[in-house]
Amino acid sequence: MKIKNMKHLILIKYGELTTKKANRKVFINMLARNIELLLKDFNFKLNKDRVRMYIEVEEHDISLVVEKLKNVFGIHSIVVCYPVNTNTDDIKEKALSLLKEKKFNTFKVATKRADKSFPIPSMEFNNMIGGHILKNINCKVDVHHPDLLLQIEIRREGTYLYTEEIPGLGGYPVGIQGKGMLMLSGGIDSPVAGYMALKRGVDIECLYFESPPHTSIEAKNKVISLANIMNQYSGHIKVHVVPFTKIQEAIYKNVPDSYIITIMRRMMYRIAEEYGKKVKCKIIINGESIGQVASQTLTSMAVINEVTNMPVIRPVACLDKLEIIEISKKIGTYETSILPFEDCCTIFLPKHPVINPELVKAKEYENYFDYKMLIEECISNIEVITDLKLDHYSDLL
Ligand code: ATP
Ligand code: MG
Repeated sequence: MKIKNMKHLILIKYGELTTKKANRKVFINMLARNIELLLKDFNFKLNKDRVRMYIEVEEHDISLVVEKLKNVFGIHSIVVCYPVNTNTDDIKEKALSLLKEKKFNTFKVATKRADKSFPIPSMEFNNMIGGHILKNINCKVDVHHPDLLLQIEIRREGTYLYTEEIPGLGGYPVGIQGKGMLMLSGGIDSPVAGYMALKRGVDIECLYFESPPHTSIEAKNKVISLANIMNQYSGHIKVHVVPFTKIQEAIYKNVPDSYIITIMRRMMYRIAEEYGKKVKCKIIINGESIGQVASQTLTSMAVINEVTNMPVIRPVACLDKLEIIEISKKIGTYETSILPFEDCCTIFLPKHPVINPELVKAKEYENYFDYKMLIEECISNIEVITDLKLDHYSDLL
C-alpha cells in the first residue's frame, strides 16, 4: 500500500484500566465511546485492541485532536505516529527529518516488526537507521537512558515512526462507574470535587441551589459556566437548578440562627438524594473539606449526613485549600470560581453558626415548618439546563 493511502495515526496507551483484567473490555469500550463522542466533528477512524487504541486522522487535524484527547480520562499517553512507505531509504529520510526538529544529545532506535515479511532483522535495522542519524546529526547513541527514543513500527500497511509520548490524564473512562450527583456551587471546591470524581470514572450531573432574588442571575450563570468548563472532561454534563428560596426563607424564619446552616444543608442533602435517585445517580458528591467552615467539622458532617443513606463522596475532604486551588487552576475553573457573586450559603450565613450541632436539636428545629411539602414542591420545579454555552456570560468575565 502506498503512503498516500496512509492516514496519520494517533496511538493511545490505556491508563489504569489495563490492570483490571475482568473488566478490561468494558473499560476499553467505554473509553472508545467517550473518544468517539468527543471527536464527532472530525473525520477519523478508531481501531482498538487489548493494549492500545489507534485513531486515524487527517494530518491537518492532528494537533486539535491531540488537544481534545488530553482531556480524556482513561488515557495513559498519546503518541502521534508519522506514516512512511516501508522501504529503507524512505524510513531513513523520514527518521532524519523528524529528529532534525528535536533537541537531544543522545538517542536510541527501537524497531518493532509487526510485519515479519520485512527482510531486515530489528537489531540490524536499528543500527542502519541509527548510523544514518549519527552521520547527519551531531549526537550519540545511548541504549540505556537516551534523551530521545525513536520508535519504528513496521506494519503490513506501511511503517510508522514516532518519538514522543504526550502524557494523558490517567484515571478511568468517564461513565464506567455510573452516575453521581455533584452539588455544584460557585466556589472553588465543588468543581474540583467534580473533576476528581470524573477522574475515577463517575459521570456527573450537577445540582445547584439558587435563591432568587437573594441570589443573582450572575451567580447562576457562574455555576453554569463552571459546569461548562468541567464539561471538557465529560461532554454531557447537565445542570439542575433547584429553586431553593422558599425553603431558605422558611429556615430563616423558623430556625434559631446558629442552626440555620445545619438545617439548610440537611435540606440540600435530602433534595440531592431524592432527585438524584430520580435521575439515576448512585452517589452524592460535594466539595466539603474537613474543618474548612463550621458546617464541615466532623460533628457537623455527621449531623448533616444523617438525612441520607446515599453514599456521600467528598473528594477534597482531606486536601488543604492551597492544594484545592492548585487543582482548580490546573483544570481551568479557578478564574471563574473567584468571581465575586454571592451564593445562597453566604447570603444567609449567621454570625455564629454552631460548630458542634446536636442531632436532636436539628431534628426538632426542622419540624418547626413543613419541610416535606416544600421539598416536594422544590423538586417538581427543578430546571434542567443541557446547553451550557452562555453567550451573554462572556461579558461578565
Ligand atoms: P468555597 O470554595 O468558597 O469553599 P464552596 O462552594 O465549597 O465554596 P461551602 O460553603 O464550603 O462552599 O459548601 C460546601 C459544599 O456544599 C460545596 O462545595 C458544594 O458541594 C455544596 N454547596 C454549597 N452551596 C451550594 C449551592 N448553592 N448549590 C449546590 N451545592 C452547594
Ligand atoms: Mg468549601
